[in-house]
Amino acid sequence: MMNLESYWPEILDVVRQKVAQQTFNTWFLPLEPESAAPEDMLVGCPNHFFMDWFSEHHLGILNEAGTHYFGKDISFGLKVKESTSPLPQDLLDSFPPIPLDDDEETGDRPGAARVVVEPRQPRSGGVYNLNPDYTFENFVVGSGTDLAFAAATAIAKNPGDRFNPLFVHGGVGLGKTHLMHAVGNEIARNWPHKKICYVTAETFMNDLIGSIRDNRTPEFKLKYRGMDVLLVDDVAFLAGKESTQEEFFHTFNALYDLKKQIVLTSDRSPKEITTLEERLRSRFEWGLITDIQAPNLETRIAILKRKVEVNNIYIPDDVIGYIAENITDNIRRLEGALIRLLAFASLTGREISLEMASEVLSSFFRGNSGGPVRIADVMEVVCKSHDVSVDQLKSKRRTQDLARARQLAMFLAREMTGASLNQIGRAFGGRDHSTVAHACQKIQKDIGADPRFRGSVRDLQERLRGKK
Ligand code: ADP
Ligand code: MG
Repeated sequence: MMNLESYWPEILDVVRQKVAQQTFNTWFLPLEPESAAPEDMLVGCPNHFFMDWFSEHHLGILNEAGTHYFGKDISFGLKVKESTSPLPQDLLDSFPPIPLDDDEETGDRPGAARVVVEPRQPRSGGVYNLNPDYTFENFVVGSGTDLAFAAATAIAKNPGDRFNPLFVHGGVGLGKTHLMHAVGNEIARNWPHKKICYVTAETFMNDLIGSIRDNRTPEFKLKYRGMDVLLVDDVAFLAGKESTQEEFFHTFNALYDLKKQIVLTSDRSPKEITTLEERLRSRFEWGLITDIQAPNLETRIAILKRKVEVNNIYIPDDVIGYIAENITDNIRRLEGALIRLLAFASLTGREISLEMASEVLSSFFRGNSGGPVRIADVMEVVCKSHDVSVDQLKSKRRTQDLARARQLAMFLAREMTGASLNQIGRAFGGRDHSTVAHACQKIQKDIGADPRFRGSVRDLQERLRGKK
């Protein structure tokens, strides 16, 4: 049977006719077919930056070309070429290299060891869904993460012993998922025979639903309850999903009783997860709860430098400083800025400088990824969640519920739209700026005092950012 490699040059030819030469050279030539079987349609990218950018901007064209070539719907999968992945050597050693055919094109990339590893497949002990790049070594410890990091390394040394479960919470893009994979990778390194499984709460639920549909619930139970380490990401997703909570509760108990390590993450603390069953909440609180917070400037710079180093690229210090100063609350966005810069540089052949960075990134820094939030968006979301109308929000009526919704909307407008107090006052039926200022202070105070309220405000903010 022929594999993708034999078709690859012709697929590239189709692409070549569709895109500019420069784009072709930069984004398509570096790809390598990786599939063992033709139906895999897997192509390798030189690094993660490349892969993220490619998937967002060029994968569509590749899929079109494949579809055109084969005359049926094709979607390619992407992976980072193994030879460039910064896997620790001993982890690499634990995967058997697969011999390559003699006539295979060896490529002229330096250091291309051409070892095929499949780290996402279970090994002898069983590592399920762990990302080998998310290690403790690749995690930059800073002021906002030192406690969580200390706890994570402690349980990786003694899984199931003291801090069980470990519950890590904090905002989006701050490294929760990374840390939890790092725990798994480290335990796998020290105890190759342990079974370690990473799932998101959503996957857990889908798995459960699928097992019910296919009459496989015993297998489902065996699978999760047979783990030595269970890493469950984004457990706030379980809120309001009663039967999934029920099943998760039993899984939790089974593992806990056997002293198996459980690690949970969430964008908020157990107390802030509304509509979580009390018995589950209390279990989440049995072990260690630690939060992670946005990194300070020094840490952001250190993180960028690490990314640059790991990916073998050069970016001047003043540019790194510029990015770190402008993105303060989300490391994923820090990385996004880097990708954008690198792509621009490679497309235009220009050297990366501060001037170029500000040209390329200023729009990226301004808005959230989904475009700016408008006051009207805020009103709409708040009205929906409080069951009031926009007209009521703008009116002079001051029933308690309405006043509350209005204050909250003003607060969110202030936090998220960049509008001034005066502009907000005007939008809310011509109110004075001091009224808006007062509303903001009041809500801020309540957020500090009431974790549940904080959780629901965060929900609204996320909805506004288009994350929900
Ligand atoms: P979360 O799960 O909190 O939303 P992730 O763990 O997915 O965040 O992190 C987002 C990205 O930022 C990942 O690529 C991760 O590797 C990177 N990252 C986050 N925190 C750090 C850190 N302290 N050091 C290095 N990289 C980090
Ligand atoms: Mg995450």
